[in-house]
Amino acid sequence: MAKFAEAEARTLVKKICMNCYARNPVRATRCRKCRSQELRVKAKEGRGV
Ligand SMILES: [Zn+2]
Repeated sequence: MAKFAEAEARTLVKKICMNCYARNPVRATRCRKCRSQELRVKAKEGRGV
């Protein structure tokens, strides 16, 4: 079960480009695909609080 949480965290800790929806590393400042700076952290949302 711990492994699952680990994998889940790995997929959640990403930045999503609001322009092309590419996944980028959290430390990225701009999209690796379209160079857009409109990156949004894919945080733990939608978990029902
Ligand atoms: Zn992009």
